[in-house]
Amino acid sequence: AKADGKNTARLYDPAMHAAVTARRQLEVDLSNAVLFKQFEVFYQPQIDLEAGTVSGFEALARWRHSGRGMISPTEFIPMCEENGLIEELGAQILEVACKDAMAWPACVTVSVNLSPVQFKSGNLPTIVKDVLEKIGFPGSRLELEITESAIFDRSSGIISQLSEIRKLGIRVSLDDFGTGYSSLSHIRSFPFDRIKIDQSFVRELGADAESLAIVRAVVGLCENLGIQSTAEGVETHKQLDVLQHEQCRSVQGYLFSEPVTMSETMKIISEFNTDPPK
Ligand code: C2E
Ligand code: CA
Ligand code: CA
Ligand code: CA
Repeated sequence: AKADGKNTARLYDPAMHAAVTARRQLEVDLSNAVLFKQFEVFYQPQIDLEAGTVSGFEALARWRHSGRGMISPTEFIPMCEENGLIEELGAQILEVACKDAMAWPACVTVSVNLSPVQFKSGNLPTIVKDVLEKIGFPGSRLELEITESAIFDRSSGIISQLSEIRKLGIRVSLDDFGTGYSSLSHIRSFPFDRIKIDQSFVRELGADAESLAIVRAVVGLCENLGIQSTAEGVETHKQLDVLQHEQCRSVQGYLFSEPVTMSETMKIISEFNTDPPK
């Protein structure tokens, strides 16, 4: 026993053991959170610069963990994708978002993010249709956001499912545009309704000539394709000025509002969407 003591010591690394245990515990907590529907949905307004109104809100999932506080979707969404929980979580978020959006004026849309893994089973169009019917929410008020990396995976029949979804009157946006691979061929292979210009380009507006050239090109491209463009991650007046100058109509970012709770959306709508006093 003494002879292999050294080996045992090397195999048993307390720090690594603690990390593995913590990870396992988080996975258990996550599957319970999905089981008991403990996720919250926050909303970030999308501003129509021309009309000066809130045209819609993007739904962003939040997980308030009892021990660790708020956990970012960039952490728990990939975990759900790995553990087979994303289909269920995605349906829950969609349902909450559509229910919440029922309380907004009919001209205000809701955008829900999709994970590429939600296309794996081939049932996404049916799942979405069922949620809309259950709630009585019109497809025309729903937008679904999909990232470029998702479309890159051609094996899962994403394009045909997106076409089915679009037949329900739902619009489809290409999220994080410019950060994936062969962006332009994606636009050719599917009729997106909107392109969301990634915040990495917006961040450098006013500081970096290349980013300006890219934003200008994407806004022009969308105009020529007859689709909408939205600039994400607008944080400063300087960035907004540049975007307005480039005739970008739709923006989202901390300059206007962080993602907020459902009750706060009502305040934002009444602030933006009531006619100014005469
Ligand atoms: P995303 O879809 O690109 O969402 C935009 C992210 O940028 C959000 O982070 C939002 O809070 C943040 N953001 C908004 N305005 C600004 C700004 O002015 N500056 C900066 N620096 N950031 C801003 P969040 O909520 O942490 O979400 C991160 C990502 O997690 C999302 O990126 C999306 O890919 C994913 N995600 C969030 N909710 C869901 C969901 O319900 N389902 C799926 N599949 N993915 C989700
Ligand atoms: Ca998004
Ligand atoms: Ca994005
Ligand atoms: Ca993103």
